[in-house]
Amino acid sequence: MAQHFLLAKAARTLSPAKVARLSDDAAWETFKAIRWEATEGQPFCPRCGCLKHSFIATRKLFKCAGCRHQYSVTSGTIFASRKLPIRDHLLAIAIFANGAKGHSALRLARDVRGEACTDDTLH
Ligand SMILES: [Zn+2]
Repeated sequence: MAQHFLLAKAARTLSPAKVARLSDDAAWETFKAIRWEATEGQPFCPRCGCLKHSFIATRKLFKCAGCRHQYSVTSGTIFASRKLPIRDHLLAIAIFANGAKGHSALRLARDVRGEACTDDTLH
């Protein structure tokens, strides 16, 4: 079984500081490299596994040449259909991948959304 993409080398070397400095395009490219690390960043269809695709640049969507399915960089991941910007997904990955003792879901949500913590016992 393939290693989960959140445990990929590219995810483990990602730091929150690095993510903060990325442009939107660089964040998207980084997410793509992490998500499809097994194929060296080459996207493949989450439905049929086909590597051939066309790219709809205006919507940042891939269109499978095999089954015509349209998919994004987050399709088929836990980040699919979320409205957060890609950089926020990357930040969550960086925090998760770097957390030696794990990270509570509540704290992760606060860190990614940038909300001030009002409960010191959770830190
Ligand atoms: Zn396909």
